[in-house]
Formats: sequence, C-alpha cells, structure tokens
Amino acid sequence: MKRRDFLKKAGLGAAAVAATTVNAPAVLAQKKYRWKMVTTWPPKLPVLQEGCERLAKRVNEMSDGRLTVQVFAGGELVPPLESFQAVSDGTVEAGSGASYYWAGKEPATQWFAAVPFGMNAQGMGAWFHGGDGLKLWEETYAPFNLIPRPGGSTGVQMGGWFNKKINTIADYKGLKMRIPGLGGKVVAKAGGTVVLLPGGEIFTSLERGVIDATEWVGPLHDLRMGFYQAAKYYYYPGWHEPGTYLEYFFNKKAYEGLPKDLQHILNAACMENEQWTLTQFDAQNGAALQTLINKHKVEVIQFPDEVLAALRKMAVDVVQEEAAKSPMAKKVAESFAKFQKVVGTWGSVSERAYFNVIQQAMSLKG
Ligand code: CA
Repeated sequence: MKRRDFLKKAGLGAAAVAATTVNAPAVLAQKKYRWKMVTTWPPKLPVLQEGCERLAKRVNEMSDGRLTVQVFAGGELVPPLESFQAVSDGTVEAGSGASYYWAGKEPATQWFAAVPFGMNAQGMGAWFHGGDGLKLWEETYAPFNLIPRPGGSTGVQMGGWFNKKINTIADYKGLKMRIPGLGGKVVAKAGGTVVLLPGGEIFTSLERGVIDATEWVGPLHDLRMGFYQAAKYYYYPGWHEPGTYLEYFFNKKAYEGLPKDLQHILNAACMENEQWTLTQFDAQNGAALQTLINKHKVEVIQFPDEVLAALRKMAVDVVQEEAAKSPMAKKVAESFAKFQKVVGTWGSVSERAYFNVIQQAMSLKG
C-alpha cells in the first residue's frame, strides 16, 4: 500500500499527521514521571511494605508506564522516621508510614492513625471519605507541603504479649512495656514504665526480661516476630490501636505537577490499596491466630472489663491533653469525637448487635 493510500484509509491527511507531532497535550500525555517513595517499614514487611510495592505496580500499570514509583524501604534511602521530612523537602516525591509518627511535627497528626478507644477501621474510613477526616488531614499536612492519602487500616490490633497476667489496673504498676504513641501515654498514666524499642530489639528484650510486655500489630506480624516463644499471654483487644490507619503522602509540588489524569490514577490506586490492605489484615490475621492457638498453644486472654474501663478513663485525659497542644489538634479532636459519637450510635444497632447475635457460633478454638 502506498503511503498516501494508507493515510487516506486511516482517515488522516498529511497535515493532520504533522499537527499531532506538535500537539502539546499529546506531548504532555507522553511525558514520563519518575517518582521515588520512601517508607517507614522494614523491607519485605507483609501488607505494609508489600502494599507500597503493590501501589507502585498499580500506578505503573494504570498509567501505562507514564508514572512510575520506585519504592525504598525504611533506611534504604533515608532513615525510616525521616521520610516525612524528605517528602516535605521535595528530596523525594512520595512517602508512606503512619501519621502518629509525626506527632512531634504537629500533634494533630495522631488522630489520623490511631486514638485509644477511638474509631475502628470502618469508622475511620467513614470519617475520611464520608466526613471531614481527609479534609482535615489535608489541612494538617498543607503547612508541610504534603498531600496525604489514607493507606488502609490494620483493623483492630492485639493488646500485646505479656509475661505477667493483667487482672486489675494495679497490675500495670511497674510493668515495663514497649507500647508507642497515645497508648503508651495511657500505660504510663496507669503506672507502667514505657520503653521505646525499634522492631528488631523487641524479641530479645522480651526474652531476657528487659521488658515484661510488648504490643506489635496482630497475629500475622506477631507470629513472624516469634513473640510466642518469649511471652506467655496474648491479650486482646488492642484498645490502644482500634483501627490504625496507614498513609501515603506526596510532595505537593510534585503532585500538582502531574497532569490531571495521572493525579486521578494515583488517587484511584491509593483508594484501591486502602481496601486491599484491610482485606489482607483480616484474611491473614485470622489464619495466623489459628496457628498461634492450635500449633503454638498460645493462651489468648481478654483484658478484664474493669481494666478496660480504667484504661479508657485515663485515655480520655491523655486525648484531652494532646488536643490542647495545638489549635489544629483541637479542631481535629473535636471532629473525631463528634463523628465517633454519630457512627458509634449507628454501630451499636448494626455491627455490634450483629456480632452479638453471631458470637455464640464463634469460638477461639475454631
Ligand atoms: Ca501497634
């Protein structure tokens, strides 16, 4: 086929072909964006670091390679707890972590990750996407040139591994426990000694009696850490992290420099990952809990009601003290409390009522 005939058949004149080669939107659409993401997670950490790799893969696929994200685990490019600053400075374009790590930058960040006796994953998601949550998160991160996106939830975490039984609130007196964040402040109020340890040092400290107790995440991650070999009792529920939300955050200038369709792709991939994350935790925690109980004969114990009631009272004080630390924290705390009350009332006649109905059919030995 002659070239002229081909162009005719394809419905394109020579002029049209010439025009497309200088068509500015088309050129922009073909521009490739190469991003880097730094995370707070260890390499290969299931669901968390794995989720960041998944996000990068999805963005690449959906944009047909126009936006690629190279993911670096904590410490590979910058130390884990410097990822917020690195993205804020524009050293890299993207980051991932949990917003309570940044309490030192702005106390308000804590409410977007976990509040002791706060909302569960469902409530948090509703606050972000159906309430003011995400809007307030964006407002909180704006002074740092960052745009946050919810990264999915761990679901309710476990209360932790203990070598001493917790029968009354007095058992917290002198208890040495690794528990970060607001939950740690509550344990300190109860008379405990809060120890901060990086992930890699927890097992040995627990085994050698340097600490009496530790919390981590849930059965999936706790099983991998081998805590069942170093502690006798596995307590629930994780009142201190009832629905911890993870996060992605982007440098504002980098984000705004993307064409609109790539921004949409990035947001869609984040939301897809948000859903994926919780489903992985729910599915894999269930299987890991059965392994801990049936294979490793772990004693799984619920915190006594009176202990939870006492911790809850102290948590109210801790949350109030934190909320008083900045105008933004006050604003976020008010929105959170108001929303929790509304979804809580609904939850009591929906989720809670339903769980009560079916709980007789469930058993930890299942
Ligand atoms: Ca935890």
